[in-house]
Amino acid sequence: MRLRNVPGSQERILNDAFTIQTDGENGEDFKGLWNQNFFNNDHPIHIEIGMGKGQFITQMAKENPDINYIGIEKYSSVLVRALDKRADLELENLRFMRMDAEDITSYFAPDEISKIYLNFSDPWPKDRHSKRRLTSRCFLERYDKILTKDGYVQFKTDNRPLFDFSLEELNAMNWIKDEVSFDLHKDGPAPNNVMTEYEQKFYAEGKPICRFVAHR
Ligand code: SAM
Repeated sequence: MRLRNVPGSQERILNDAFTIQTDGENGEDFKGLWNQNFFNNDHPIHIEIGMGKGQFITQMAKENPDINYIGIEKYSSVLVRALDKRADLELENLRFMRMDAEDITSYFAPDEISKIYLNFSDPWPKDRHSKRRLTSRCFLERYDKILTKDGYVQFKTDNRPLFDFSLEELNAMNWIKDEVSFDLHKDGPAPNNVMTEYEQKFYAEGKPICRFVAHR
């Protein structure tokens, strides 16, 4: 995603009621206590890492009021776009967090997250950067630390080399694949699937979309 500095985005995030603060007063306080002290309910918590402008997670939150959603994004300048879209919606079950996924185990405890969505994650094509890919074994280890026993990861991408790499990483870490598709929308838009911004664009261009669902 091309990044443009958005003046004032950091301040906006700091002052926004729907953003969990990780700079300054911090979300680490909720580690292990998200249900009890933050959402005040016992609904499952699903997160999207690298939510971009938030189209997917916002739609998921609208459709599933009994699930708590946290959208995670590394850059303030991108996260503010999600805030703009969310502004008019009264969704008690959706919050955003500016955070680098590398730090995820500082903010969530074992057994706290039921589902992790990774949508069109950055491919980091150079071999020397492979550890930065959100489906690399380093990240799978982190996800394993926060997922519930029956929790799982769902990954979608148009990038076949990244998808093949991700399947190899799942094998290397002995994850179990519940679903693997190399062309999710082969017969038209897949049922029960919320499209992300990137997915809509690639689908319109006729690119095959890959998806896996996997658990430890
Ligand atoms: N998920 C959206 C979609 O499918 O339309 C956006 C996809 S965009 C290609 C990837 C997003 O992941 C970018 O907004 C980027 O800033 C974010 N991202 C990349 N690495 C990240 C990390 N380590 N932690 C959190 N977000 C990250």
